[in-house]
Amino acid sequence: METLRHHIGGNLIKGTSDRFSDVDNPATGEVTLRVPLATEGEVNSAVAAAREAFTGWAATSPLRRARVMFKFKALLDENMDAMAEIITAEHGKVHSDAVGSITRGLEVVEFACGIPHLLKGAFSDNVATGVDMYSMRQPLGVCAGITPFNFPAMVPMWMFPVAIACGNTFILKPSERDPSAANLMAELLAEAGLPPGVFNVVHGDKVAVDAILNHPDIAAVSFVGSTPIAEYVYQTGTASGKRVQALGGAKNHMVVMPDADMDQASDALMGAAFGSAGERCMAVSVAVAVGEAGDALMERLTPRAQTLKVGPGMDDKSEMGPLVTAQHLEKVRGYIDLGVEEGADLVVDGRGFTLQGYENGHFIGPSIFDNVTPEMRIYQEEIFGPVLSVVRMPDFDSALRIVNEHEYGNGTAIFTRDGDAARTFSNDCKIGMVGVNVPIPVPLAFHSFGGWKRSLFGDLHMHGPEGVTFYTKLKTVTSRWPTGIRQGAEYVMPVMR
Ligand code: NAD
Repeated sequence: METLRHHIGGNLIKGTSDRFSDVDNPATGEVTLRVPLATEGEVNSAVAAAREAFTGWAATSPLRRARVMFKFKALLDENMDAMAEIITAEHGKVHSDAVGSITRGLEVVEFACGIPHLLKGAFSDNVATGVDMYSMRQPLGVCAGITPFNFPAMVPMWMFPVAIACGNTFILKPSERDPSAANLMAELLAEAGLPPGVFNVVHGDKVAVDAILNHPDIAAVSFVGSTPIAEYVYQTGTASGKRVQALGGAKNHMVVMPDADMDQASDALMGAAFGSAGERCMAVSVAVAVGEAGDALMERLTPRAQTLKVGPGMDDKSEMGPLVTAQHLEKVRGYIDLGVEEGADLVVDGRGFTLQGYENGHFIGPSIFDNVTPEMRIYQEEIFGPVLSVVRMPDFDSALRIVNEHEYGNGTAIFTRDGDAARTFSNDCKIGMVGVNVPIPVPLAFHSFGGWKRSLFGDLHMHGPEGVTFYTKLKTVTSRWPTGIRQGAEYVMPVMR
């Protein structure tokens, strides 16, 4: 069986670790690949390579750095299908969805192509006689990205295109569950002309993550994953003096007001709850049905969930693929059992789903619970599977209250025809990304992505303008050239005149 390699300093490295993790095809359960789990020594080699590459890369003009991004974008476009096949084979999501997710990552590459403009500083002429003041943003050094399984290409692309375009070098530690997309990106970056050592891939688990968090030569860490690990990464990384942005889990609520277009709202819920088998940080896992919206929604959702086409991701008739691993399948099943015990009404039960010829795949059908209440664990915890909880609320105020009381604050949406309700909701919800009649309000690359509350640790969101701020340091220069006028030493606080 093939064993994946690390990508360090422009070379494919076998590594010395005797620890490996199996990667299987979620549709068949067949193990297809072994991924090496890096030692601290391998992380150190990647940092050394990235450090060595930094001086030259930081000195390369932003225009030339952008040209590498333009080439990378073209290569990624050409390899879109191959990349999507890799993602489907290791993650399980349907091929068209994999293409969509790569496209969203590609948009960040396109944004990074504008880096000369984004790095333009500010200049104040003649702040005092003969004195000018200018500010510029400079790269940090070696940056690292630690990414989750659910978007093996898109989430790394929220990070490295901006980091690299800003003049940093980068180490990616992708998820060990679907690691191959990272290697393909490294190959395409090299083909695009990126110098060796500017982008490195180290495969691994907690050992590699801890080595990254404790390494004195890593200046900044971007993390995306579950909340407990995000919190750990934030606390450990910042304690060792790093700049850290750590995005965590979610429980996204979609509020449906009684005046909403119910067909539009139920279409939106189907896609947002069951697309990518619910394994999206922006998936809607809670529908908050206000007043009579509850019955109208259940009437529409139930038959559609019962007939949703679940199948292997490479079958273009499939609307939903399998879950990522057997272990995750068990976890999701466990939550459905729990919801039944907690007294929610399991109106659609995905647990019995089987597919002839794919008996070892990690398949489960969509499930819908009605009459879920905020006290239940299935409401409070992130399930990260195709399980939709419907919570019935009497009015707008109580719907907004439960959105705000939930510990997560990644995304939310309101479906309504009432502009006043939509505006009040958008202004008053304590959530980072809000949709009005849009179920998955993922900001485009030229805005920034991030949640509130326990969905993000740190100050800055990812990509867009906040990404440029995260990956650069501000420097302000005050400059006077000799004019022949000597003022002598001054002992008071300088004031510009
Ligand atoms: P995860 O937290 O298990 O893993 C994320 C990364 O952390 C992986 O690279 C993994 O190797 C590493 N890791 C795992 N356990 C670790 C430990 N004990 N110590 C150090 N590192 C560790 O997350 P996952 O299951 O891969 O991804 C799903 C989660 O990611 C969900 O909670 C989802 O909501 C979240 N997510 C959030 C966003 C967002 O933008 N907020 C986006 C995508 C996914």
